[in-house]
Amino acid sequence: MLIGGEAVDSAETLEVEDPATGRRIAEVALAGPEHVTRAVASARATFDDGEWRWLSSAARSRLLLSIAQTVERHAEELAQLDALDAGLPISMARAYLTASIESVEYAAGIPARIAGETLPPASMRGDQFQAQVLREPLGVVGLIVPWNTPVSTAIDKVALGLATGNTVVLKPAEQTPLSALRLGELLLEAGLPPGVLNIVPGLGAVAGAALVEDPQIDKISFTGSTVTGKRIIAAAAANLTPVSLELGGKSPNVVFADADLDAAIEAAATNAFFLSGQVCTEPSRMFVQRPAYDEFLSGLCAAAEAFPVGSPLDPATLAGPLVSRAQRERVLGYIESGRREGAVVASGGTAIDGPGYYIAPTVLTGTTPDMTVEREEVFGPVVSVTPFDTIDEVIARANDTTYGLAAGVWTNDLRIAQRMTRELQAGNVWVNCFNLYDAALPFGGYKQSGWGRESGAAAIELYTQTKTVAAATLPPRPLVSPTQTTVANPSPTPNEVTQP
Ligand code: ADP
Repeated sequence: MLIGGEAVDSAETLEVEDPATGRRIAEVALAGPEHVTRAVASARATFDDGEWRWLSSAARSRLLLSIAQTVERHAEELAQLDALDAGLPISMARAYLTASIESVEYAAGIPARIAGETLPPASMRGDQFQAQVLREPLGVVGLIVPWNTPVSTAIDKVALGLATGNTVVLKPAEQTPLSALRLGELLLEAGLPPGVLNIVPGLGAVAGAALVEDPQIDKISFTGSTVTGKRIIAAAAANLTPVSLELGGKSPNVVFADADLDAAIEAAATNAFFLSGQVCTEPSRMFVQRPAYDEFLSGLCAAAEAFPVGSPLDPATLAGPLVSRAQRERVLGYIESGRREGAVVASGGTAIDGPGYYIAPTVLTGTTPDMTVEREEVFGPVVSVTPFDTIDEVIARANDTTYGLAAGVWTNDLRIAQRMTRELQAGNVWVNCFNLYDAALPFGGYKQSGWGRESGAAAIELYTQTKTVAAATLPPRPLVSPTQTTVANPSPTPNEVTQP
């Protein structure tokens, strides 16, 4: 692991498995609570030392650009690590890295934008008081990331933490520690001072929990499941540690009969099944207006059957294995529960024979809003398709979920698009497209899909805090300008101000 710029070993190890074959491919040092304490102490000392915190904005931007270039030079290596470790299809791993490099380049523009305000006081004369709102880093931020797109989520979060002047402790998911550890080495090579970024690969319930509970942590930023997010909030409450959360979803994708159906079907299949559905924004509930329903369903099922499922190292693959045996069992359990509760499997529905934790892209019909598979996030290649008649009906159905991460709308009618984008309860709404992420755009969820908006300038809010400074000017008078002799209604001087 990485603590204070040093590679630190541990008596215990974490076994790393290739989910495409089930073979053990590596062992890494396992971070226990004592390592987390050390990592946080290192980040704390580095922050308190001041060198990092007070770095000029130009120097901080240069460093972030150097990080972007270093990651770019090693992008293929990082992509291959995630392909091996997470089963992330190599072409997708490359695409995510390209996006993450852009996120770091965007973050390089952030330091110069972290500005406070000078405000006119409401009750004081402006010549007697100067009020400023300073925007400052939080201090030590703990970043907890999941296993579905391991290195790019880590890069995105780390870049924002560093751009805003914080020091960082990163905890990768126990299933996928390899790329994060390599990232740590690369960032040191890029010129990041030791202690600014510390990396602790450990178990969620042990190292993750220790990070959340550490009193020296000033903020936790978490991406993962809603269940774990709730656990983190409960643990963070002990110290009132601020938490931001990117959690699960049960995203609706609404296709109106006037839409370009070929485009809608292609996008629906790609976004439902790439990464085998292990994507928080997966359009897992498809709603199709009745005149287009049959054509959409048969098109989606055909696309599901032809979907490029295969070895993560094959550049043609878009869906690899699920990340672990446990995850495959979980997803198969959801398909089973759907069957039991009355859903019909229109395509897929089974594990794929052979080594590795594969599941066939699965389309369900006949689901109702009360079914488990329709309510809970499956995080696998499983989607439902439901017909609808009216816009009011589909708005109610699309919003009938505890989640609110994303939603898609397919129509060529501007009035329908506008009504839908207003009514859908989701942090991200895509019209005639899906999963359009951008480093400049805020990303986050309504309802139980999260707290806060990461990426874009919104991230500045998430990784900084404000300090209000009200300063009496010295000397406290003159109340009048040299050319005036009297003042009609002098305002009270600061020390004359009394409670109302
Ligand atoms: P999954 O259950 O699919 O593994 P999680 O949302 O639990 O997904 O995992 C996302 C990240 O959260 C991982 O890095 C994991 O180790 C971490 N994690 C899991 N449980 C906790 C916890 N109680 N406290 C802090 N982090 C945790």
